[in-house]
Amino acid sequence: MKILVTGGTGYIGSHTVVELQAKGFEVIIVDNLSNSSIEVLDNIAKISGKKPLFEKFDLTDPEKTETFFRLHNDIRAIIHFAAFKAVGESVQYPLMYYRNNLVSLINTLQGMINNGIRDIVFSSSCTVYGQPEKLPAREDTPIQKANSPYGNTKRISEEIITETSENEAIRAILLRYFNPIGAHETAIIGEFPQGIPNNLMPYITQTAIGKRDFLRIWGNDYDTPDGTAIRDYIHVVDLAKAHVIAVERMIADKSKEKVEIFNLGTGKGFSVMEVIKSFERSTGIHLNYKIMDRRPGDVEQVWADTGFANTELGWKAEKSLDEMTASAWKWEKALAARR
Ligand code: UDP
Repeated sequence: MKILVTGGTGYIGSHTVVELQAKGFEVIIVDNLSNSSIEVLDNIAKISGKKPLFEKFDLTDPEKTETFFRLHNDIRAIIHFAAFKAVGESVQYPLMYYRNNLVSLINTLQGMINNGIRDIVFSSSCTVYGQPEKLPAREDTPIQKANSPYGNTKRISEEIITETSENEAIRAILLRYFNPIGAHETAIIGEFPQGIPNNLMPYITQTAIGKRDFLRIWGNDYDTPDGTAIRDYIHVVDLAKAHVIAVERMIADKSKEKVEIFNLGTGKGFSVMEVIKSFERSTGIHLNYKIMDRRPGDVEQVWADTGFANTELGWKAEKSLDEMTASAWKWEKALAARR
């Protein structure tokens, strides 16, 4: 059975392709390689023994998208990752973000409608919850105004999919990711941050390997036990496996609603300081850091209620924080060895 993975050479996409292949799915990737490299295809093959099919084009191009769907008329379901994801960049270039993230989704949905593809899994984000009044965040926790154009594209994308499904033969599973970190155990695929990383985990590993002088901790005056902000970090391989389960659920007609929403997290919150401690524990490396002012737009604390994903989807994150930080470090070292 053939699954289209848009953005399949990216960080979460590549890990998901490997898990799909392990379950016997045939994968076709569409990616414009704007934030990933063609070598990822060979690296996927090194892990799985099978190079996925690949088409390089931009899903914001409606003609190319339609031509692609006409040519590949045996796609059973879609996992749509393709999107820009840098929060700060989205503040600087909002139109670029709205155009890229929304138009590519619209063209994908149109291609599904025109070509009779029913099922789509969509990459959403816990950013839609903002700072929830009650924790943990449940799927019915009220959506809040987004902190950035990036976050807004996720909220609007959820609405576009939901409204489209109301009058078209489209079903969707929206997966709201908490904070994916770590890399495949082989360290053959992982995250390639462009330039100076914004996210915590790549910043930690780049500091440890000597590419950055010290980690800047954005604030230690939050109302949390150690004063640093709390997130729900989830191993990218656990996250990838949830996509396979979501696809299988749709194909087996087990969805209970046209659009279902699941939180993907561990259900446990860890502070920035706890992540640093975990990194030091799992690698034996001492990390330099400095406390800075809070980063504008950051929420204080958020973690997932994973009950619905556990019971209804039948999925549970398995890997511990120490496994996440250890795998991120193994990947950073593998990257350094490649250069
Ligand atoms: N963070 C930090 N220093 C960094 C990067 C991130 O202290 O260099 C903190 C950030 O303030 C937040 C947490 O780490 O509390 C996770 O940030 P990240 O950007 O990875 O994900 P976010 O939750 O913002 O999407």
